[in-house]
Amino acid sequence: MARYTGPSCKLCRREKTKLFLKGDRCLNGKCSLEKRPTAPGQHGAANVKVKEYGKQLREKQKAKRYYGLQEGQFKSYFKEADRVEGVTGENLLILLERRFDNVVYRMGMAESRKEARQLVLHGHFRVNGKKATIPSMLLKKGDVITVREESRSSAKIKELVEGLDSRIAPKWLLVDKDAVKATIDTLPVREDIDFPFEEQLIVELYSK
Ligand code: SF4
Repeated sequence: MARYTGPSCKLCRREKTKLFLKGDRCLNGKCSLEKRPTAPGQHGAANVKVKEYGKQLREKQKAKRYYGLQEGQFKSYFKEADRVEGVTGENLLILLERRFDNVVYRMGMAESRKEARQLVLHGHFRVNGKKATIPSMLLKKGDVITVREESRSSAKIKELVEGLDSRIAPKWLLVDKDAVKATIDTLPVREDIDFPFEEQLIVELYSK
C-alpha cells in the first residue's frame, strides 16, 4: 500500500498543529512548526477563511496523519466505528488507539508511530508470547506485548529500552520497564486520548 514518504514536518505545518511525527525532535526546541508556523507553499501565510467543509476535512486529515494512515484504511476504521454501539467519533479514536503500532509507541518502545510500525514489521515484538508483525492488528484488554528475545541485543532496541524511564505511558497500559513488557489493563476511553481532536467534525464529514 502506498504511503506518504514526504517530509513529516510539512504535514504539521499543513494542519497548523504539532502531530508529533518525529519523536524527540518534536519536543526539544527543534520543531519546524515552531520555527515556521505557516502552511507550506507559496500562499501558506495567507489568511484564508476556512468554511465548515474545510474544517471537517482538516480534522479528518489531522487524525489520519497523526496515526499514520492512508485514506482507505482510515475510512474502514470509520465504518467500523459507525457500525458498533456507542458514540461514533469516540469509537473511531479508540479503535485507532488499539492498533498494535500505536500501542508500541504508547508503551515507549518507539519514538514515533512511524518507527513503531517499522519495528513491528521487522518482527521485534510478541503479543501474548506469539510472533506478531501486523501494525494494524487491534489489541484487546489483557493482551501482553513483549520484545522478542533475539531483538534485545539490537542497538536500536537497547536504546529504546534505556529511554523507557523518560517516557510516560497512558494509564490504560501497564508498563513493566524492567521486563520491557506492557499489558493492556483496560481499553482506552476518550478521556485517555490526550490529543485535542474534534472527532465530531470527522463524523459530520463522512455523514454527508
Ligand atoms: Fe511536527 Fe514534530 Fe516536525 Fe514539529 S518536529 S513539525 S511536531 S513532526
